[in-house]
Amino acid sequence: MEILASARTTGPTAYVVGAGVIGLTTAVRLLELGLDVTILTREPIDETTSHVAGAYWHPFAVAPKERVLPWARITYRVARALAEHSPDAGVAFRTLYKYYPADEVHTWWMNAAPSYEQLPAATLPPTAVAGYKLTVPVMDSRYFLPYLVAQVRTLGGRVEQRTLHHLDELYGAADLLVNCSGLGAASLNGDTTVQPIRGQVLRVKAPAGMERAVVSFDKGWRKTYIVPRTDDCILGGTADAADADTTARPADAEAFVERCIQLRPALRNAEWLEHRVGLRPGRPEIRLETEHVDGQAIIHNYGHGGAGYTVCWGCAASVAEEAVRVVGTP
Ligand SMILES: Cc1cc2nc3c(=O)[nH]c(=O)nc-3n(C[C@H](O)[C@H](O)[C@H](O)COP(=O)(O)OP(=O)(O)OC[C@H]3O[C@@H](n4cnc5c(N)ncnc54)[C@H](O)[C@@H]3O)c2cc1C
Repeated sequence: MEILASARTTGPTAYVVGAGVIGLTTAVRLLELGLDVTILTREPIDETTSHVAGAYWHPFAVAPKERVLPWARITYRVARALAEHSPDAGVAFRTLYKYYPADEVHTWWMNAAPSYEQLPAATLPPTAVAGYKLTVPVMDSRYFLPYLVAQVRTLGGRVEQRTLHHLDELYGAADLLVNCSGLGAASLNGDTTVQPIRGQVLRVKAPAGMERAVVSFDKGWRKTYIVPRTDDCILGGTADAADADTTARPADAEAFVERCIQLRPALRNAEWLEHRVGLRPGRPEIRLETEHVDGQAIIHNYGHGGAGYTVCWGCAASVAEEAVRVVGTP
């Protein structure tokens, strides 16, 4: 009887592959359901793509819109609660100024924020024909990812460093596998639609008064952004499709920093701290679905492109719903 009782409290077991922002937020939600969760990661958390990101609430290179919108809305709400009640999480809200070039204005995603407003034409930079202002969360990866790891451990989960070559190495090892391997899905489950989108940013010391975040697109969708964080500022950036080179290119930095200075002249004398390069897990659409292979239940949650931080809590909620359907709860 005693053994049975303790087995029941353990709950269904799950391996979550990936300790980026997607794997960690997913693991938190599964642990809250009572699952017994072990996270596997190939590299330390501060070497993941998630660590490189800006990371502000703004969907980029991600689809489909009809799923991204509700996921982004949930993430916004959770970020609000974290900013208010969990100072360790490194989440702060900033006013985002968003500029668009000629007739390429997309406001669909702003509907996931509580409100947004159009900027007067006279206030726009020369490269823009339209601009909007809204309040968005910025999740400082240096604090947010360790905060999530701490949550995982507090809830009884484990994080182990281990490289897999294929998901099938885990078949039969747990009731549920959750695939949050980002770009790793290309080899782990042979998804050839997953492609890197190389992103380079520069971390600088934030000049005094650098409060607002700015994102501007040129014609051709070249992106320039300024994201003030807790005590530094991320300047970006690049988005090179099918480019997996993680070496920093000084010429790229020179170019986007100059564009940032055009938007905020105070950045001209900002102290450069660090180049950072990450590979966004590009995919035509986020893959969030369950499949059964050789009797193993797998929930996939990967392919978040340039929006992992924007949709993470919404996707984690969807995985939790799927998990209840697939393995139940204790
Ligand atoms: C420069 C840049 C700026 C960005 N800015 C933003 C932003 O402002 N807002 C936003 O929302 N998003 C932004 N993004 C995108 C965001 O960073 C990604 O969408 C997000 O990090 C993806 O998270 P992930 O957990 O899926 O992947 P990752 O962080 O790459 O994590 C993948 C995990 O899977 C593990 N894994 C992979 N393969 C294996 C294997 N074979 N065995 C074991 N483990 C494995 C890895 O070790 C890692 O733990 C940015 C990205 C970049 C590069």
